[in-house]
Amino acid sequence: MTKPLIIAFDGPAASGKGTLASRIATDYGLPMLDTGLLYRAIGFLRAEAQGDMADAAAVAALASDITPELLENPSLRGRGAGEWASQVAAIPEVRTALKQFQIDFAQQPSGAILDGRDIGTVIAPDADVKIFVTAAPEVRAHRRWLQLVKDTPDLTPDEVLADIRLRDERDSSRSSAPLEMAKDAVLLDTTDLGIEAAIEHARRIVKDRRGSH
Ligand code: C5P
Repeated sequence: MTKPLIIAFDGPAASGKGTLASRIATDYGLPMLDTGLLYRAIGFLRAEAQGDMADAAAVAALASDITPELLENPSLRGRGAGEWASQVAAIPEVRTALKQFQIDFAQQPSGAILDGRDIGTVIAPDADVKIFVTAAPEVRAHRRWLQLVKDTPDLTPDEVLADIRLRDERDSSRSSAPLEMAKDAVLLDTTDLGIEAAIEHARRIVKDRRGSH
């Protein structure tokens, strides 16, 4: 039997990690989990119920209401859901409630690709390949703005940049599983790379790292 391959993609919002992860997942025929969607789903459910985002127990309990259908809901990709996600993601009880599901996904027999903030550090510290994807905040904000402006024509790039800076700050400074690069991760800065060039870099990193294991 071939050895399972686990690849961790981490990095800040709109760094391109999701796109890279899904292309590499296609290359290798591996299942992929966008872990940000789990936090987005919890934030979205709580906001819909108009509940207090700071009530740790009540928010964490929503982890059991996540369904595959909910994860397909386009509202989870919106601006509000990203903001709520980063609020609930700072709650340790929420992280605990989502942890085992992510570990089980990573440990399936085929291997898996996961993207998030703490995959290489907490969820899959033994991953075969860890890639930390980043880009300048202005570049990330522009990319996210291009996605969001279709549904929110009044949105300005500066508003998106402010969102991104706030989320970077909150994700990096929280006490529970903050956004940080694992010591054995490879840095991939996509600031000056188009998507195809970034994918080629990621492919090379995966090949090199697999070869060294
Ligand atoms: O990656 P995405 O933008 O969908 O993530 C939304 C938010 O969820 C992030 O800003 C972060 O606060 C949180 N998150 C996290 N850990 C993960 C994935 C996402 O804390 N593994």
